[in-house]
Amino acid sequence: MTYSYTQISHYLTCPRRYRHRYLDGWQEKDTRAAMLFGRAFERALAAYFLREDAAAALFREWAACRNLGLRYTNGDTWDRMLQQGVQLLDRFCQDDRVRIRQPRRNLQIKFTRAVSEKNDFVAYVDAIGRLDGARCLLEWKTTSSRYSEEPDGLLSLDPQLVCYSWITGIAEVAQVVFVRKRLVEVQYLRTTITDEQRREFGQLVEDTIRRIESAQFLPHSGIRFPQNPCSSCPYIGLCLGRQDLVEAALVRRPGAEDLGWLDELTY
Ligand code: SF4
Repeated sequence: MTYSYTQISHYLTCPRRYRHRYLDGWQEKDTRAAMLFGRAFERALAAYFLREDAAAALFREWAACRNLGLRYTNGDTWDRMLQQGVQLLDRFCQDDRVRIRQPRRNLQIKFTRAVSEKNDFVAYVDAIGRLDGARCLLEWKTTSSRYSEEPDGLLSLDPQLVCYSWITGIAEVAQVVFVRKRLVEVQYLRTTITDEQRREFGQLVEDTIRRIESAQFLPHSGIRFPQNPCSSCPYIGLCLGRQDLVEAALVRRPGAEDLGWLDELTY
C-alpha cells in the first residue's frame, strides 16, 4: 500500500472521512473553482521557471476549466480569478526572490520512503530551490486570504511542511503564498523544521497506518459550536444519509483505494 500526506491527514481529521474516501471510493467532485485555479496557477509557475510565457500558460490551463460547471465562492468569477492570477505572476516576477536551478528536475519532485515492509509513503514536493539566496524546499499556495504570520514560529507547526521535511530530510522550508484579494499579495514565509519534529512525524505516520490497518474508522470530528468540522466536510451527506447532499458534492469511484496517493497531485 502506498500512503500519502493527504491520506494521513484525512484519517487524522476524521477516521470516518478516510473510510468514505479511501475504502468506499467517494470523492469530492472536481468542480471547486479555487482548487482548479490553484492547479492552473501551479502550471503557470512551472512555465515561468522554464522561461516560457507564464500568463499564456495560466490562460490556457484556466480556460480548459471554464466549462466544467465550476463552483465559485467569495463572489469569485472566472474572469476575476484570471485577472488576479496574472497580477500575482507579475508581482512574483518583479519580486524575483525565488530561483530554481534545473527546473525540469527541481519542480514537482517525487519522493518515496518505505514505512514498513509492505508500505511506502509518497510525496510530491512543489520545488527545491533558493529563496533570497538560501536553499530550501518550497511549497506554492493559492488562497483568497492572507496566511497568518503570528505568533512567530507558527509556520514550523504546519503539518504538510513537517511531512515534506521528514520525507526529504531538508530542514529549511518555505511557503510562497499567492493571495487573491483586491490588491494581490505574495507572502514569502520560511521556517526550520527540527530533527525532533521529523522523528515525531515518522512515528505519527507509523501509528496512523497501524490504526488504518486495524480498521479503526469511528467518526470523531468533534461537535463544538460554532466550529463544527462536519458542516464543511464534503462527506456530510453520507454521514447524515442525505442523498441530495451526496449527489451535490461527491462522485463514487470504487477501487480508488490503491490510487489514493494520486491525491497528492490534486490538493
Ligand atoms: S461529516 Fe463529520 S463525522 Fe462525517 S466524515 Fe465528515 S467530519 Fe467525519
